[in-house]
Amino acid sequence: MLVGPSGSGKSTWAAARYRQQEVVSSDALRAVVGSGENDLDASADAFALLHQIVTGRVRRGLTVVVDTLGLDPDLRDRLREQGRAAGLPCVAVLFETPEALCRQRNATRDRPVPARVLGQQVAAFARAVEAVPGEGWDEVHTVREDAGVPAPSPAQVP
Ligand code: ATP
Ligand code: MG
Repeated sequence: MLVGPSGSGKSTWAAARYRQQEVVSSDALRAVVGSGENDLDASADAFALLHQIVTGRVRRGLTVVVDTLGLDPDLRDRLREQGRAAGLPCVAVLFETPEALCRQRNATRDRPVPARVLGQQVAAFARAVEAVPGEGWDEVHTVREDAGVPAPSPAQVP
């Protein structure tokens, strides 16, 4: 379960470490069932698919990296309990990327997340950082990306 505001580097981190089929992304699924990654009207359908994919993969004991903001505690609980029920290790990865860097990356995107929305995500992330260690994950990892500092190697982050 990836947890971090928009622009914190979740999708980039996942793509560098996992096969495409191992990563289930709510943004990518919005583009599948809607007009594009930012088609928020397609969110319900995208998340229905996300849950279906997670269910199918955990039933088979397969790795699944859930690439969403991860800021909703109920979603975290639901997915962790699914993994737990399947006997899989459940890992949360927190992206503690500085807010300024998230904003800088966000600004260069085709359709930037509005500044106010990013502020809400950053606030929700601060709550998640407090909550996640007590939620019952088998492991909690923190990825810290500062400008100019490379991300940890795969050997450091399982
Ligand atoms: P969202 O929640 O909006 O999907 P995200 O957390 O998945 O955001 P990414 O799409 O991975 O964020 O990264 C945002 C931008 O930052 C991209 O343009 C990406 O190329 C760049 N980026 C991500 N990680 C790094 C990194 N370690 N070093 C340099 N640039 C990075
Ligand atoms: Mg992403």
